Amino acid sequence: MPEPRHAVETVRKCDVEGCGRDAERSVSGKKIETAGMKLSSDPSKSAHVCKEHYKELKKKTKTDRTLERLGW
Ligand SMILES: [Zn+2]
Repeated sequence: MPEPRHAVETVRKCDVEGCGRDAERSVSGKKIETAGMKLSSDPSKSAHVCKEHYKELKKKTKTDRTLERLGW
């Protein structure tokens, strides 16, 4: 595995509890909570999720769409 030239500043880790993969997307922490996932960071802020969890999140929020609509 090649070493990064600069500091790992840009590499974010997934904020879902127990997950240590590199984050790919940034989503609102609230959305993650709505999907029933646990965050290791503050849910009131935006969180970062890895590819896998983003997929899972998308799936779950799709099912909860009506709920989400009512909330807004
Ligand atoms: Zn993850």
